[in-house]
Amino acid sequence: MAVAPWCTTVECEEDVKKRSEAASLAAAAAASAAAGEAAGEADERALSGAAKTLCMPFKEELDKMGVPEMAEGACCFACERAAVAFTLWGRSY
Ligand SMILES: [Zn+2]
Repeated sequence: MAVAPWCTTVECEEDVKKRSEAASLAAAAAASAAAGEAAGEADERALSGAAKTLCMPFKEELDKMGVPEMAEGACCFACERAAVAFTLWGRSY
């Protein structure tokens, strides 16, 4: 899981999902090739490994996690837009 400044747009989340899917697909394929598994098994595992937004923590929770205040003019971690809020991201398994 990761806390990241995010622009909160749907387009951006879709983009992150796509990119994380591609990354986990490659990683799973490499892992299963090393383990001598069929590629199909790796695909199944990778499809459930995409990153997604879990929630937007409240300020108090961010404080507890030690996340600093959003900097003025901070950018989204995934695109060029301005960051709107810190968001908790995770992988679905
Ligand atoms: Zn973004």
